[in-house]
Amino acid sequence: MCITLEKKLIPDMFNKGSKLYSILFLKCPKCHDSDLFIEKRIYKVAGYFDMPESCPKCQQGLSLEPGFYYGAMYVSYATSIAWLTVVYFSLVIFYPEFSLEFYLITGLLSLICLSPYLFRLSRSIWINLFIQYEENIND
Ligand SMILES: [Zn+2]
Repeated sequence: MCITLEKKLIPDMFNKGSKLYSILFLKCPKCHDSDLFIEKRIYKVAGYFDMPESCPKCQQGLSLEPGFYYGAMYVSYATSIAWLTVVYFSLVIFYPEFSLEFYLITGLLSLICLSPYLFRLSRSIWINLFIQYEENIND
């Protein structure tokens, strides 16, 4: 009963084996078992950028070439703009009489708070563009 209820609450697109699972939970794009970043705490400054050279479970290299993650900057720009759009429409819906200054302050403060996660999310999206999931690769 509990298992079927849980399965109905979590759509298949967020389960292991989907791109969204690997991207949102920052997992290895090939096996979806190990983490993309060594330090799990997002707001810890030391080790913030550190990623393993390769996945400890499936041995997939996580930096495909020198400077591989420069491309993630474009993804980071897109995710930041998407977040600012979400903030804008949230204000339109919940606080329609907001001013431009209020939007800019709210948007920038929330963007600063979210930037560590957006940084990692951008790298996760970028590597998921190039590496496909392989089921049972660790068996
Ligand atoms: Zn892996």
